[in-house]
Amino acid sequence: MADLAEVRGLAERLISHHLPGQGWQFGFDRARRRGGVCIYQTRRIQLSRALAEVWAIEQCEQVVLHEIAHALAGAAAGHGVRWRAQADRIGCRRETLSDGGVAERDAPIVGVCPNGHQFFRYRMPSGPRTCSRCHRGFDLRYQITWARR
Ligand SMILES: [Zn+2]
Ligand SMILES: [Zn+2]
Repeated sequence: MADLAEVRGLAERLISHHLPGQGWQFGFDRARRRGGVCIYQTRRIQLSRALAEVWAIEQCEQVVLHEIAHALAGAAAGHGVRWRAQADRIGCRRETLSDGGVAERDAPIVGVCPNGHQFFRYRMPSGPRTCSRCHRGFDLRYQITWARR
């Protein structure tokens, strides 16, 4: 359980350290299906308020570093070699994060789609979820099956 004021302070320090004088700003948003986002057009790095509330501060830090690496590498880099180089340089551990931003090693709930893509959650999803990697948007052909491990 992270304190949101503490998360904000940490994120702002990390951003001013790694992206000095470039106008990048931090904010919380209402997202629930992903943890962090890097918005290049408006130079904002945002964290899900709902997820930040349940994460440990170290996990918030990792997600902010992940997004800072995106800001450094540029939108075209994706999660490719340029992004990975920046992530390594700034201390992002590059753990597999699900679209909920949940780190693989911590999550008690594992989901798998018909094509074998894995997803990680702290809580059992309440309704059906479908694979965002197989298909953008909800599509029951790609329904995820969840199990507690
Ligand atoms: Zn990313
Ligand atoms: Zn899939």
